[in-house]
Amino acid sequence: MSLNRRTVLVRLSLATLLGGALLVPPAHTQVPARAAWLDPYREAATRLIHASTTNDFAWRRLAEVTDTYGHRLSASENLNRAIAWAVETMKSDGLENVRTEPVMVARWVRGRESAEIIDPPRHALTILGLGGSVGTPPDGIEAEVVVVSSFEDLRARVADVKGRIVLFNAPFTTYGDTVTYRTSGARAASQLGAVAALIRGVGPTGLRTPHTGSLQYGQGVAPIPAASVAAEDADRIARLRARGMPVRVRLTMDARSEADVESANVVGEVRGRERPQEVVLLGGHLDSWDVGTGASDDAVGCIVTWEAARLMMRLGLRPRRTVRIVLWTNEENGLRGATAYAAKHAAHAADHVFALESDSGVFEPASLGFSGSAAARTLVRDIGSLLAPISLAEIVGGGGGADIGPIAQAGNVPMMAYLGNSARYFAIHHTPADTVERIAPEEVSKAAAAIAVMAYVVAEMPERLPR
Ligand SMILES: [Zn+2]
Repeated sequence: MSLNRRTVLVRLSLATLLGGALLVPPAHTQVPARAAWLDPYREAATRLIHASTTNDFAWRRLAEVTDTYGHRLSASENLNRAIAWAVETMKSDGLENVRTEPVMVARWVRGRESAEIIDPPRHALTILGLGGSVGTPPDGIEAEVVVVSSFEDLRARVADVKGRIVLFNAPFTTYGDTVTYRTSGARAASQLGAVAALIRGVGPTGLRTPHTGSLQYGQGVAPIPAASVAAEDADRIARLRARGMPVRVRLTMDARSEADVESANVVGEVRGRERPQEVVLLGGHLDSWDVGTGASDDAVGCIVTWEAARLMMRLGLRPRRTVRIVLWTNEENGLRGATAYAAKHAAHAADHVFALESDSGVFEPASLGFSGSAAARTLVRDIGSLLAPISLAEIVGGGGGADIGPIAQAGNVPMMAYLGNSARYFAIHHTPADTVERIAPEEVSKAAAAIAVMAYVVAEMPERLPR
């Protein structure tokens, strides 16, 4: 996901929304020149924006799904129930061709887990095992800790690593740069003979918050247990070691992987009135990590894309092409939903005219990222001008998403991402703090409005968006 976000001032207050007043155009947004070809769509765009931003329906639905089903790890009963709920609720919304597309997914179970400094004075560490990690023996693994700040640092300390627990204490810069320690730290440490790995939480320093997420051991590497540790605990261990003091830690994890089980993508449509075989694909992933309630990652992405379709139906706006919502399964620890969709729809990949994913939260200031040809970008930039009332007129780079990637690659499909503010997103990413309270109703409404307008115009314009 793109981490370079433009700062856009937004004047979208809750009072404005609840009062139902017209939105005031912000003063600091660059609006492209008025494009005449958009004139047939202006009224629809105004209606979609008004319908979305004058109520908090989408936020309440987000609260409902996260309150009722909680976190939704792949293969969990919570996710199964959320999938069933989504199918029934899409049907009651009046969406068409509502169905599940089944796929087998991995089942990883966290179990009980703890870590503590044994010496010097006993001190419980705040940890979260990494997804896919193996467990420890029942009594845990106890060893001295080696602190490294990077993979280069690890290689320089090769003589110190064997039989030890390696703590990767790399400060968070960007997600893209820092997540490599979470995905590959255990593998690198294992290759040098370490018995376990601890990873400083991949996110800005929070309130002693560890961040879970998946790891990859790689072929031929002995899997060792790995956990994320809160930044404050990582810093404490690093300071003790910097003073020359040995630090012994015991790590205990029951984590295990079990046999694959069936899950499903949830699909619902607004069927196109003239070219139903051409598809504008929208979605977020319904699965989450097993901490918090996965509100920002990524229940909100499901809700805002689904809401875009619901608003079209409610306002009687049936576009020329089909708008298809997919609530993806297994984004977090396998991407099986995305790969299964691409395989199932391979013969129709080129019928996808546009694909949008919302998986970066909806925190303000947000933006729309686009990846596609110059010809498509020109048209999308014009469509963006319709979003001036909600401060999203400017289209930035960085379209795409993990779930839409495989089908978009197969069909050379232009891609868009709804990009929430990354600092706010990554502060709670994969943590117990990812709950609905962090998200404001107007942020949800605005995202739904933007996605609805963009999807509607792309689905309605006479010629398909060029590839
Ligand atoms: Zn996500």
